[in-house]
Amino acid sequence: FPVEALSVPQPIRDFYLNSGIRSLYPPQSQAISAGLLDNKNVMISIPTASGKTLLAELAMLKSIESGGKALYIVPLRALASEKFRRFTEFRALGYETGISTGDLDLKDEYLGTNDIIVATSEKVDSLIRNETRWLSDISVVILDEVHLIDSPDRGPTLEIVITKLRRLNPKMQIIALSATIQNSKEVAQWLNASHVVSNWRPTKLYEGIYYDGVYCADVQTTGKSNNSEGSKLKNKDGTDAQTKTSPLEKKIIPVFIGREIDAAVSLVKDTLVDGGQCLVFESSRKNAVGFAKKAAPIISSLLTPLEKEELARIAFDIAEGSDTEAAAVLASCVRSGVSFHHAGLSAEQREIVEQSFLAGKIKMISSTPTLAAGLNLPARRVIIRSWKRYDANSGMQPIPVMEYKQMAGRAGRPHLDPYGEAVLIAAKEKDVELLTEKYIHSSPESIESKLGAENMLRTHVLSTLTNGFARNREQLIDFFKGTFFAHQHGLLSTISLTTVVDKCLDFLIENDMCREQKSEANKSETQKPETNKTEVKTPEKSKSAFQTADKLDPIEKKNSNSVYGNDSVLIPTTLGSTVSKLYIDPLSASVILEDVLKFKSGTKNLLEISPLGLLHLICKTTDMKLLYMKSGDYPWVSEFIADNAERFISIPDPVRVSEYEWFMGEVKTAVLLYRWISEVSENDISKEFDIGEGDLRNFSEIACWLSNAASRLCRLCGFSEESALFSDLELRLQYGASVDLLSLLKIRGIGRVRARKLYAAGFKSKDALKKSDYITVSGLVGPKIAEKIYRDIGLTMDAEELSRLKNTKTGHPK
Ligand code: ADP
Repeated sequence: FPVEALSVPQPIRDFYLNSGIRSLYPPQSQAISAGLLDNKNVMISIPTASGKTLLAELAMLKSIESGGKALYIVPLRALASEKFRRFTEFRALGYETGISTGDLDLKDEYLGTNDIIVATSEKVDSLIRNETRWLSDISVVILDEVHLIDSPDRGPTLEIVITKLRRLNPKMQIIALSATIQNSKEVAQWLNASHVVSNWRPTKLYEGIYYDGVYCADVQTTGKSNNSEGSKLKNKDGTDAQTKTSPLEKKIIPVFIGREIDAAVSLVKDTLVDGGQCLVFESSRKNAVGFAKKAAPIISSLLTPLEKEELARIAFDIAEGSDTEAAAVLASCVRSGVSFHHAGLSAEQREIVEQSFLAGKIKMISSTPTLAAGLNLPARRVIIRSWKRYDANSGMQPIPVMEYKQMAGRAGRPHLDPYGEAVLIAAKEKDVELLTEKYIHSSPESIESKLGAENMLRTHVLSTLTNGFARNREQLIDFFKGTFFAHQHGLLSTISLTTVVDKCLDFLIENDMCREQKSEANKSETQKPETNKTEVKTPEKSKSAFQTADKLDPIEKKNSNSVYGNDSVLIPTTLGSTVSKLYIDPLSASVILEDVLKFKSGTKNLLEISPLGLLHLICKTTDMKLLYMKSGDYPWVSEFIADNAERFISIPDPVRVSEYEWFMGEVKTAVLLYRWISEVSENDISKEFDIGEGDLRNFSEIACWLSNAASRLCRLCGFSEESALFSDLELRLQYGASVDLLSLLKIRGIGRVRARKLYAAGFKSKDALKKSDYITVSGLVGPKIAEKIYRDIGLTMDAEELSRLKNTKTGHPK
């Protein structure tokens, strides 16, 4: 299918022609025939690198051309940035792109000025809860990696977001992109979409096994693939390269590490000698780092002096960016042309590693499976070093076929590699057949909705009510009938949904987040729920989000056994709608308010237990991510609890083993956060808790968001002192700083290290800085930051004066 024949305006066709795309790949042509450019819903389930993004782009551009707006939903923040960067290229066509992955409680109305908006599913959920107007203008939504509906923690939100968006914009086009999964047809049916499925890949993929020094590709799999790109490969000098095929069987020259042959290192060396790059998948972070370290000297010996020079520059940037030991290890690996990759890296480190690998400078990455989940980092050879993974409940378990296929799918860079090879390493002879059957000859599993559980539905039941998608129990159940869960489970789902929805309603009513009001005829019988926590006012009238609730289908009145009769309206309280907008689990809100109330009525004063007790309270909420307890943690955590008993709101009885164990995990996490806000260095924290910089950021970000929510909940309930405490805690968590720095930290551009330097020099507040002289301040924090500070605190200096000041030893701004 030639690009020239696409039914889109000429400038769009030219955009692609100019970037070298002249004709569509076969599955892309299938999607066009399925109505992608005719406003039809299309579910596309094709392998990695077979051109899903181009299809999403065409659908978006076509829709925008007709006056619409596109929403691109991604599962990961890192993926959002990657897509955002790509879509900003459409500025050449006059289209603007915006990205929204940040604070989950903000509306982001300004984003609506863009033609394309990229956001995570959580962010879209929050935008809906905050009734962001432009959502009603969306004409096409792209669901990237829609197979993640199967994920226990992220899937339910994705399902709900899709269901809500369809209600808001019934005419909206849906383009769903998925890896190959067994039941993609079922998802297509749910979305009322045409189904495009294909195994075609632009680069031939060989899937094989390495055992005892020999790599053997599986012929059955290679026969299925279809390589139309081979003949188009070019040599560096522009001449046509010979189409190469992977050897179906190859003896791999052994590399010894100590006295043993290392299979994976041998395979990596073999690829590099052949001019390719490698991705090695490991089962844990520790193994990923360990393997990079092990392979480093071998790979380093294959580098040219020029390559070494370039890598030294990249390593320098990594080492400059952070003073932790983990960063030093990463820098040293990168200097040798290898890297590791896992969620513990900081965003900056990940970015450097990914870009350097894409540019061919880093030759090998050893990674946990995070890299296989969507990031566009292909390599000639993908090595799956361990096909088993540790599971806390059941020990070492084989990885799912879907995960294997995602890793294998990364093999072969389109237009650059003559073929891709995925290699599983078999330790024993009998594993060769087992792995061939289990992974190479098997299809990926089916995906399954994870929406059915009460702890997943509670928050969505509340938001469905607060945004006016439903006003009574029957409308609620009707709403949930639009989910994939209901589609998958048919009639049965109605029964289980009804039970779970009723449980959620019980919770929300008990906790004052929603109340039941009998309709006009029975109004006198209305029972107002007891409120023992807050004086929560009910909004004047039940809100109808986006003013569309009246568009909802009329609900049939059916007899029901539930206590929530269909003649009663469910009205969210102010507390309920605040909780929904704050984007926290209603259970988290009730945990926070319950503990704050304990203080209000008890003998302990919340002001005295802070901040450790407050941090522990945050760690008690269901939204907080907790550190695992390792065997070495039990002695020190127990001792810590004993030494600080008076600082915890309550301590469970150790006889209740599992409850106490959970409590210890909360305490361990609270101590981590406590170290952070006590200005302990990131390196010391990383070592003490065996976590990466990326993890520390992640923990502090979640705690920061929950402290903000706690502060706002306290304010809503009229607890102003407590609200201020959480608000200070939020700021301390944001910067990782002690209370005495708070006043300085409110000035933009000052981090905790600079704030401490200023403080130590006697500049303890904005006012003190206002009386400072520029030379001293710039001596402490550097001229750039000094300028920023002065601008932020309202001291103006013209450029001439600034340059005079920089050149003299004294001076004070106007
Ligand atoms: P996926 O999202 O399916 O993993 P991508 O959309 O990222 O794959 O495509 C992989 C690569 O193939 C990109 O570099 C893209 O520019 C290129 N590509 C996509 N479609 C075509 C095409 N029809 N002709 C040539 N290159 C294409």
